[in-house]
Amino acid sequence: MRPLPSVVALVAVVLCFAAAGPRAGAAGVATNLHIAAFVEVFANGAPAEVRCPDSLEEWSLDLGEPLAPEEIYGRTFTGTNVVEFRWDLCPILDDLSGSSADDTTKALAVLTLIHESYHVRHWSWRLNEARVECQAIRHFRVGVQVLGGSQQLADRLLPFGLEWHDRIARDRAYYLASCEVPRQRLDRSRSAQTLHAARDAHAGRVSPARDVQTRR
Ligand SMILES: [Zn+2]
Repeated sequence: MRPLPSVVALVAVVLCFAAAGPRAGAAGVATNLHIAAFVEVFANGAPAEVRCPDSLEEWSLDLGEPLAPEEIYGRTFTGTNVVEFRWDLCPILDDLSGSSADDTTKALAVLTLIHESYHVRHWSWRLNEARVECQAIRHFRVGVQVLGGSQQLADRLLPFGLEWHDRIARDRAYYLASCEVPRQRLDRSRSAQTLHAARDAHAGRVSPARDVQTRR
């Protein structure tokens, strides 16, 4: 199991220095117009380019080969509005209703999409992680539906979205005390059981998790 402090330190380093920029023409990274349209909905019409790596290896290369690329869920180049998602989140965002991914990963994909979109949106807090993350969880349910999911799916995924939000907001940069998170409609103990099972499968990489924001 990887010691938690080293992961935290690593991610902090990535946050500060991941300024390599999108690798133009990289073979394993594809532009996705469909997901870009979703980003633009939450960015209030601001144009965005979405780039999807096709593998963990490509995502790692794209990020500058950090030790734990799977811990970075997305990033936004706020100067050019280029948004990138972790390799496995793109297929979910492309077809949420048809995806066979587990509910916790689906919820992460939705939360990350809205989060990155608020980095693209022209508003005064677009560079503030805590404000951006608060908007992401507050718009979670509508996010599921914008992506083509039903109200029932939105209700089912919300507890997982809340768990991810809580985990992300453990990092003070992503924590907003005044954030009014949506209330759950489902039995929390039932969803928590499922999530804990999923976490067990990822033993060793439970750490504060987040995205990367690069100002170029
Ligand atoms: Zn962010």
